[in-house]
Amino acid sequence: MVIHVENVVIVGGGVAGLFAAYEIVNSSKTLKVTIVEMGESVVERRCPIERYRICTRCRPCNIMSGIGGAGLFSSGLLNLHPRIGGDLVEFVGSERDAWKLIEYVDRIFVDCGAPENVFKPDEKKVEELDRKAASVGITFIPITQRLIGTENAKNVIMCLERRLKEEGVKFILRTRVVNVEEDSLLLSSGEKLNYDYCILAPGRSGMRWLAEQMNKLGVETRYMPVDIGVRVEVPATIMEPICSVQRDPKFHIYTSTFDDFVRTFCVNHHGYVVMEVYEDHIGVNGHSILAKPSPNTNFAILDRIELTEPLEDTTAYGNAIARQITILGGGKPIVQKLGDLRKGRRSTWSRIKRGSVTPTLNTATPGDISMGLPHRILTSIIEGIEMLDKVIPGIASDSTLIYAPEIKYSAKRVATNEKLETKIKGLFVAGDGAGISRGIIGAAVTGVISARGILEKVGER
Ligand SMILES: Cc1cc2nc3c(=O)[nH]c(=O)nc-3n(C[C@H](O)[C@H](O)[C@H](O)COP(=O)(O)OP(=O)(O)OC[C@H]3O[C@@H](n4cnc5c(N)ncnc54)[C@H](O)[C@@H]3O)c2cc1C
Repeated sequence: MVIHVENVVIVGGGVAGLFAAYEIVNSSKTLKVTIVEMGESVVERRCPIERYRICTRCRPCNIMSGIGGAGLFSSGLLNLHPRIGGDLVEFVGSERDAWKLIEYVDRIFVDCGAPENVFKPDEKKVEELDRKAASVGITFIPITQRLIGTENAKNVIMCLERRLKEEGVKFILRTRVVNVEEDSLLLSSGEKLNYDYCILAPGRSGMRWLAEQMNKLGVETRYMPVDIGVRVEVPATIMEPICSVQRDPKFHIYTSTFDDFVRTFCVNHHGYVVMEVYEDHIGVNGHSILAKPSPNTNFAILDRIELTEPLEDTTAYGNAIARQITILGGGKPIVQKLGDLRKGRRSTWSRIKRGSVTPTLNTATPGDISMGLPHRILTSIIEGIEMLDKVIPGIASDSTLIYAPEIKYSAKRVATNEKLETKIKGLFVAGDGAGISRGIIGAAVTGVISARGILEKVGER
């Protein structure tokens, strides 16, 4: 019997690409998979300066490349929830099916070395917190989380890479896909790679490139909302009662003045605020160093902004705000005491020193965030913090520090059917770069969905 072999090419060796390949090679006898990745293999990958983390001196996209993608350089916190890290229910159709897929990819992570134990919030404590939050109009999202850990994330990805190689997956590394055609890809090496099926999973570092390729091929893309706000820093004791319920507690808030959606994001208990440097602006983020806990806790509080006409480009809007704050801060993030912000005056080091929070990012510029953030965003952020204070007493203290800008961009959403196939037959997308996920679990699930779409087409599902 002659088996007709068809080529599947996956662009991007991040979580989405790896899980798509995994799904195909474990279910198909007729598909041959090649992954094209512009970065290194997992063994060779290093951030030149800080090794594992997004460092404060180089552009994040420099270290988001390589097998494992951006996920490898994170603490690898798996948020096991269909509406965190992208809205999976939207593609899958039902919450039940979304959960099934999450359990499926989570199992693969565990098989590849992610720890068995999860952080599951205590039901009684969740109920209590839920009631307290609901009484002031806030939604608390309880999530079960699995922490792979930065060091271990590398081993997990190595395991996936090894299994794929054993199943015959071919990796073309240090090679960028330059151009996407309807049946072939042009590589940076000058070679042309033909495909029967292709999954484009270039992550956030490739999101602009992906949108350009889609526009060129006549596939629609649309801007997604941008989340703009600040990073809040408080004494860790204030957050302890909440962080003891959930490692990375997530609250969703609708503010009173503008009815804006505001959310907390990326809580670093006993963590540090860090600066990120981009091409023409700076930003803030947070991280934890397990071996060196700080006395503070930081988290982002972000206002979701959607734009229609005449400006739909949420990235341009976010960049403009970030650049403005960069100018005001003299090339550094601005830090301000919440009390100074309320009083309408800039912070100075002497005012900050009189407060009870010692900043963990002491290279920030004390200033006035209200000079840089638009009124609507600032109002929503302050209201959000004050509402949260009713659930987490002490958050809205005058001494609380806020740093700006913290901005979370989303890639443009590529138009697809529910299998993640674009209108070009056989051309699929997956992961963060296509605006359909915003986290490790979501990226893995969308990889599996696109892989299953291909398996269905060849009658192997
Ligand atoms: C610092 C940091 C911390 C994070 N922490 C967490 C966390 O704790 N939990 C969580 O759930 N999420 C976290 N995330 C987000 C998470 O890492 C991403 O959601 C996830 O990695 C997205 O997977 P992906 O496969 O879509 O894209 P990526 O992981 O970005 O992979 C895409 C790959 O495609 C390659 N590529 C791009 N363009 C091309 C091209 N033209 N040709 C060839 N290759 C190309 C890139 O080199 C990259 O390796 C974090 C992200 C960062 C940056």
